[in-house]
Amino acid sequence: MDMRLTSADRELQRKARDFTDQVLVPLEDECEENDGLSPQSHAAAAQAVRDWDFQAINHTVQDGGLGYDLFQVMLIEEQWGRATGALWDIPWRPSIPLARGTESQKERFLRPACRGDRRDAYAITEAGAGSDHTMVETTAVRDADAWVLNGTKWHVTSGDVADFFLLHAHVEGDPEKATVFLVDKAAPGVRLVRTPKYMHTFVFEHPIFAFEDVRVADDQVLGEVGQGFELTKEWFVEERLMIGARTMGASTRALELSLDFAKRREQFGKPIMSFQAVEFMLADMAAEIMAAKSMLYRACWQAARGGADRKQLHAMASAVKLVCSETAGRVIDRAVQIHGGRGYMREQPVERLYRELRVDRIWEGTSEIQRAVIGNELAKRGVDVFTGWPAED
Ligand SMILES: Cc1cc2nc3c(=O)[nH]c(=O)nc-3n(C[C@H](O)[C@H](O)[C@H](O)COP(=O)(O)OP(=O)(O)OC[C@H]3O[C@@H](n4cnc5c(N)ncnc54)[C@H](O)[C@@H]3O)c2cc1C
Repeated sequence: MDMRLTSADRELQRKARDFTDQVLVPLEDECEENDGLSPQSHAAAAQAVRDWDFQAINHTVQDGGLGYDLFQVMLIEEQWGRATGALWDIPWRPSIPLARGTESQKERFLRPACRGDRRDAYAITEAGAGSDHTMVETTAVRDADAWVLNGTKWHVTSGDVADFFLLHAHVEGDPEKATVFLVDKAAPGVRLVRTPKYMHTFVFEHPIFAFEDVRVADDQVLGEVGQGFELTKEWFVEERLMIGARTMGASTRALELSLDFAKRREQFGKPIMSFQAVEFMLADMAAEIMAAKSMLYRACWQAARGGADRKQLHAMASAVKLVCSETAGRVIDRAVQIHGGRGYMREQPVERLYRELRVDRIWEGTSEIQRAVIGNELAKRGVDVFTGWPAED
């Protein structure tokens, strides 16, 4: 069993780490102090994404992306996840279901999004529909040659900078006909309702948008009518694995900062690292990161290079998201504790990560929903996907 990274993977990982250190981390203080970046900083950061060649890491070359496999995308996102302020969201990664579009949809939406000329946001959640997507009340009703969309979407991440939405709606109000529509933000009837404030500082916003009698043509249906849940599931799988990646990057940074602090900080005449209570917190952080990260790498490797099918990947992605996000929650709690009063100051990365990592147990399916997915997989297919190991034949 050879688990070593190839030299190409290693090089990519190093480049992503350098990008994080040289482009993203220097923006952290501005982002925290101003609750976001100035237009100049945004423009400079976007240019840096192009200069470093990190645009659309998650799409094929044919579709305008960089053609990395899922394992390589994970390696990159792990390094980006080290940055606070969700600055990892600056490099655009158009939603993966856009690859299911027709050629003309790709020309209109995906390829410009890969170039960074357009940006998408995925709108599923509503006031009454969160974990249970069948409760979605956004409707699509046929009127002559158009679809008429009505509904209100919550928590639309990067909706402030997006110029089109992947809108999850129910045709004729029927959850069996869940469908994803490609909706231009500039279309008549799209309205920003409000931009709520959240616990974390995030480089972009999560606004609420209303869609009021928005008319879209047939060629703005992504995939087919009734295929919406399947497409949204594809988005979840990728995002859950990338949450695994970013939480591991953030956890590793928190451990590095805590170890460094514990070695330097002296109380009672010696470094606090010499107190076993502190040393054991660091030990637990290291051991838990090792466990969660091993699982993340294994699942992404299996998906990209080990022949895992979509069902196996769906199950593994839930387990990865659950374990990595919960591990990160424990790691960052200890990091704040080790930093003492400094750990509570917003100027410290561990404080910011403490606020930022909390949402990873909520979005893209809460921890409870991941457990439900895993339980369902166990009931349907048994334990092997979780307890087995990929073999050559
Ligand atoms: C910062 C942020 C950004 C987001 N970005 C987006 C986005 O870009 N696009 C988008 O569409 N959505 C987005 N979301 C929404 C997010 O995916 C939902 O908040 C999440 O899926 C949970 O839904 P909910 O908030 O309605 O909670 P609910 O579903 O109401 O859940 C409330 C509680 O009940 C529990 N619960 C619910 N059902 C069950 C069950 N069957 N078994 C056990 N426990 C259960 C949950 O685990 C949770 O603890 C975002 C949310 C946040 C906070």
